[in-house]
Amino acid sequence: MTYDIVIIGGGPSGSAAAFLTATQGLRVCLIDKAVFPRDKLCGGLLTRRSKVLFERIFGRKWDEDIIIAKDKVVMFSQNRFPDGISQPSPMFLTMRYDFDAYLLDMAVKAGAEIKTGVKVASFDFDNSELTLTSGERMSYRYLVGADGVNSQVAKLLYGESFNRDKIGFALEVEVPRADMPEQADDIEIDMAASIWGYGWTFPKKDSFTIGVGGLHVKNPDMKENLRLYMARKGLDMKAYRVKGHFLSTGDFRDPPGRGNIILVGDAAGLGDPLTGEGISNALQSGEAAAHALIAALSGKSVQPALQDYRSEYARITSTLKYARVLCWLIYPRKVRTYLAGFYTGSGRLQRGYLAMLAGELEYKALLPLFAGQALKAVKALPLKWLGIKRKGERDI
Ligand SMILES: Cc1cc2nc3c(=O)[nH]c(=O)nc-3n(C[C@H](O)[C@H](O)[C@H](O)COP(=O)(O)OP(=O)(O)OC[C@H]3O[C@@H](n4cnc5c(N)ncnc54)[C@H](O)[C@@H]3O)c2cc1C
Repeated sequence: MTYDIVIIGGGPSGSAAAFLTATQGLRVCLIDKAVFPRDKLCGGLLTRRSKVLFERIFGRKWDEDIIIAKDKVVMFSQNRFPDGISQPSPMFLTMRYDFDAYLLDMAVKAGAEIKTGVKVASFDFDNSELTLTSGERMSYRYLVGADGVNSQVAKLLYGESFNRDKIGFALEVEVPRADMPEQADDIEIDMAASIWGYGWTFPKKDSFTIGVGGLHVKNPDMKENLRLYMARKGLDMKAYRVKGHFLSTGDFRDPPGRGNIILVGDAAGLGDPLTGEGISNALQSGEAAAHALIAALSGKSVQPALQDYRSEYARITSTLKYARVLCWLIYPRKVRTYLAGFYTGSGRLQRGYLAMLAGELEYKALLPLFAGQALKAVKALPLKWLGIKRKGERDI
């Protein structure tokens, strides 16, 4: 079989790329090792960024039966600051079991051929050919690696799927609503549940998704982080099935591919290092790859598809670079201990942070708010050394 495009992976990045290229009449085959619907460990939080991208890519409003809206986010630090902060615009929650099957179904209806429950047994990059575990052989003009954080395609290109020193790791449990009758129906984030990361409780239709995640090297015992976080909610971790997964934290590939091979989503390392959000960048990179492939295969662009893709890719990664800087103003333990009071004391900064979480404010606009408070904190250092408290200063 010869295809214009073979896509490995049917998550949001792969389905977005398959939908758009198949819609243009290209011969597309998407391969996934799982049979759909399938679980994917994820908080399932969708920002407005994801909503806008979804509507742009799939040309429709999303199905509200599988996506619910919430308009309140509460930020904690080990159960402190329990006042809560209202988020003026909604964020959305889904179960990836439903969401990913929904996206894949749209790609199939657009004309993409799907092979699920099979893996690639061997690649022959030089001849643009591959053989599946089923024995089937196929050739392609372009290959898209959309196979997530443990990407087989990235591993073959770079020797490893990701850098162990820079990758995140997360643990999650699904807790039935009946086990948490007192739990508020809000999106909760606890900034102190992990180091260089955080904990979350996301309300779903039938359950709460509870998780902790952060940089792998900084959290050698993530299970203990989860145990403590759940214990603070009166839950015994041992009563639930704990699942773990690596978490892409913005250690992105540049260039994102080689020759006629393009990497998208987590396979390219496009997870946000500050928030862990990855679905919007998966959609955006899948869309960008599709546009570059359509232009190359239709002859509209004289540039190789990878080169076209890189200009849109640079827009995504420039945001990740800002996020990395912000991580240094938020996550290091000493910085956090000293600056937390300055950050929580600024309403503008908190509103800005929540607007960024909701996908309404870019990092570029958020950075000056954090830098301003950090500067104030530096100026106040002499007072701290003399033991003098600033007016209104709170102990954190
Ligand atoms: C615990 C956790 C919580 C998260 N919470 C959020 C959140 O709330 N909001 C958010 O925006 N992001 C979140 N993320 C990140 C988000 O899940 C990812 O960024 C997103 O799924 C990336 O999409 P993708 O299409 O690139 O890859 P994936 O969604 O990982 O899809 C990859 C697909 O490739 C398939 N595959 C893998 N290897 C092979 C192979 N060798 N052969 C064939 N198929 C293969 C897999 O079966 C899978 O279907 C979270 C991540 C974790 C780990």
